[in-house]
Amino acid sequence: MTGTILGCIADDFTGATDLAGLLARSGVKVSLRIGIPDQPPTQTSPFEVIALKSRTAPVADAVAEARAALAWLRKAGAQRFFWKYCSTFDSTAEGNIGPVAEALMADLDADQTIYCPAFPENGRSIFMGNLFVGQQPLSESPMKDHPLTPMRDSNLVRLLAPQVTKPVGLIDRMTVAMGAVALRSSLDAHRSDGTAHIVVDAVANADLETIAAACRDMPLMTGGSAVAMPLPALYLADGLLAANAQKQVSRIIGPETIVLSGSCSEMTNAQVANYRATGAPSYQLDPLVLNKTGEGPVLDWLAGQDLTKAPLIYATVDPASVKAAQMKLGVAAAGELIERTLAACAVTARNAGARRIIVAGGETSGAVTKALEISQLDIAAEIAPGVPWTYCTSAGHEIALALKSGNFGKPSFFADALTTLANT
Ligand code: ADP
Repeated sequence: MTGTILGCIADDFTGATDLAGLLARSGVKVSLRIGIPDQPPTQTSPFEVIALKSRTAPVADAVAEARAALAWLRKAGAQRFFWKYCSTFDSTAEGNIGPVAEALMADLDADQTIYCPAFPENGRSIFMGNLFVGQQPLSESPMKDHPLTPMRDSNLVRLLAPQVTKPVGLIDRMTVAMGAVALRSSLDAHRSDGTAHIVVDAVANADLETIAAACRDMPLMTGGSAVAMPLPALYLADGLLAANAQKQVSRIIGPETIVLSGSCSEMTNAQVANYRATGAPSYQLDPLVLNKTGEGPVLDWLAGQDLTKAPLIYATVDPASVKAAQMKLGVAAAGELIERTLAACAVTARNAGARRIIVAGGETSGAVTKALEISQLDIAAEIAPGVPWTYCTSAGHEIALALKSGNFGKPSFFADALTTLANT
């Protein structure tokens, strides 16, 4: 067994992919597990990320899952851990971020951790404890109307305090700007005062470098994905990670490809239009038609395709058309119908020889990976920030899989994905 240096626990699937992708920028091998593995660890990577689906789960369930994930990662050899949540701190007063952190701290006997969801490359910054999305405070951003986790306060200290039992403090940008030594002394001062939970300001990648440098020996760090990004280089410098640590390997995967899109975000609409304009064969799934005909017509179409032409099957439409389908079929039923169909297309395409599978949509990705019975992904080349290619095994076949949530990627994403793989 190869020792794992950092064990990460993410509260959702695409968040886990995002974190795994940023860690993999270092070139070191990163594995992503979908859920807590059934088997004890045997062959593990220097960086292991376990994807949970606990963002909106009841607190007790989220805590139990995170502790089970921690136990698995400790068995894999990890002595440092990272609790990853959304860069918009998606949670409620009864939310899971604080309770999970406290439970992990208790298991690790840690008396302090940091909270840093900043992701400057994606416009998430923290100043004086207030989280900004672009130029807007979190509570004035579209996140204020999120259906599950509406964020009505931008202040992370105020958001976190009701979620935890121990005191919450802030280390602001003035200290972070003074460098890692100053930040570490401020953390120590807070520790001697008994302040266990420290929100740390960050507005630029340089701040994240300082924070990671100051906190790299903490048993537990928490945050968005970006504050973990400097850790591989720091571990290499510290000799924790050997220069010859396991590297990502590129694999030869056949050219047969299927592209599946179940996301209706603005960016995915642009990406589908852009890909169709390249002349790639495509099939549009209409939930109302599908509800009458079943999966037969699309599976027949798929059977007649030359998979080396990377055909696209999409349900992606504008918000008005989504609403119209939801009014007729119900929100959940319309979504499940599309997810089930795209999952069936993935299995059919794999059985027909597709070895490169590109999926757009967070929930859609979950449905496809489940249908393909994939439990582990090795992270490979990055297509766009937060979206890497991954390698996995499905029904005994080696597959290259790209999973993209909502608004990630540029309009040329699908073609970019194919070019990225061809160049690795
Ligand atoms: P994103 O990452 O953009 O949020 P998801 O896959 O997570 O994408 O969510 C999109 C949801 O919308 C899925 O449940 C999908 O099945 C559903 N959906 C996709 N196309 C349609 C459509 N034409 N009408 C109604 N629902 C749709």
